[in-house]
Amino acid sequence: MDTIKYQLTDDQIPTSWYNLAADLPQLAPILHPGTGQPATVADLVGIMPKELAEQELSTEREIEIPAAVRQIYAQWRPSPLFRARRLEQALGTPARIYYKYEGGSPAGSHKPNTGIAQAFYNKEAGIRRLATETGAGQWGSSLSLAGAFFGLEVKVFMVKVSYHQKPYRRALMHTYGATCVASPSTETEAGRAILAADPDCPGSLGIATSEAIELAMNDPFTNYAGGSVLNHVALHQTVLGQEALLQLDLAEDYPDIVIGAAGGGSNLAGLAFPFLGEQLRGGRRVRVIAAEPEACPSLTKGRIAYDFGDTTGLTPLLKMHTLGHSFIPPAIHAGGLRYHGIAPLVSQALQDGLLEARAVPQTRCFEAGLTFARTEGIVPAPESTHAIRVAIDEALRLKEEGRSEAILFGLSGHGHFDLGAYERYLAGELVDEGFDQERVERALAELPTPAGS
Ligand SMILES: *Cc1c(COP(=O)(O)O)cnc(C)c1O
Repeated sequence: MDTIKYQLTDDQIPTSWYNLAADLPQLAPILHPGTGQPATVADLVGIMPKELAEQELSTEREIEIPAAVRQIYAQWRPSPLFRARRLEQALGTPARIYYKYEGGSPAGSHKPNTGIAQAFYNKEAGIRRLATETGAGQWGSSLSLAGAFFGLEVKVFMVKVSYHQKPYRRALMHTYGATCVASPSTETEAGRAILAADPDCPGSLGIATSEAIELAMNDPFTNYAGGSVLNHVALHQTVLGQEALLQLDLAEDYPDIVIGAAGGGSNLAGLAFPFLGEQLRGGRRVRVIAAEPEACPSLTKGRIAYDFGDTTGLTPLLKMHTLGHSFIPPAIHAGGLRYHGIAPLVSQALQDGLLEARAVPQTRCFEAGLTFARTEGIVPAPESTHAIRVAIDEALRLKEEGRSEAILFGLSGHGHFDLGAYERYLAGELVDEGFDQERVERALAELPTPAGS
């Protein structure tokens, strides 16, 4: 069966990012943790450049993409949109399945879309070094790539369990010239405090974020760069959905369902928000489904509350679905999804009924990943298999109902560095970690109370 690829030209790379905040007036402000008042640009510039702080708080609908950023995007953007004909045939479904593939970026995922933008603004602001966290290593390698392009040093705190599970991601960061340490590390107060309480702590994205922010707060030439969750990160990813809109035009189709894997929520936001924007301005309705891991289910099991983005409590307070900033998720292979919270924009969209969430166990995701690899040829990142699982389940439901609808999902990255996890799955060694209600209850008991509330 022929491969159908919908490819755009370089001049069709979007010229601006789409900011859903302009169309979500209910979005709660982020708060200064000390005063409990809405955070200002001045509150944020200690750890990020002014342009990004402004984007973080912006309610402008469109924000222009700098020419230098678009030029780098052109190396792999517009990214291809495929119709998954062989997968459809294998499932025997009348559904039309499309996927937007971000694995063609040099780092292998959607994350350089924001890494390049953040490095650009930091370089312009005279910053010399960026500090960040990484889970499975996708964000760390994307920022390392961006640092290499813009001549910035990059320091990555990599969640310890992933540091050992994914040695080649670590090697990729080093290859790009970055430094990478296992988190919790002994290099920061945050790391030392956690190690003192639990020397065997496997780490988490929240802990690694605390370490990176501590470094940024203590050095005027070091800034923090976030790989997800924050408004400006979701914003930068909206090139995905804008391109997909044009590509589905070429296909003379429109999605009934849009699906994305949700860790911090940025690739889902990037793919879905431009479609939701159309809907909110009177266009066609789409069902958006966030696919999250059963072991770390912030959207389906979290509480809506103001919480810290990191474990130690250094970030502004974000209103979001959260499992509690002190929750340390089990060591599932989809390391990029092991985060206690979710982007406030995605959280608000769920509260407003603009999207749904579904939690899926890791073995069923790997099963879907194998089906996808054997039909479409691309080995998906473990994170991306969550979206594939839900897409396949929806396609099978449509088969049962004898209905044809169009499904679009985000194939956020390839799994070439995750073949160890595939081998373990094939050997029958992977288990489902399940959801630990008790540990989440303990973490939720430690939610902050914003001053003045
Ligand atoms: C990091 C990552 C994710 C999860 O992050 P989001 O911010 O939710 O997109 C998903 N897929 C891949 C391939 C990733 O690297």
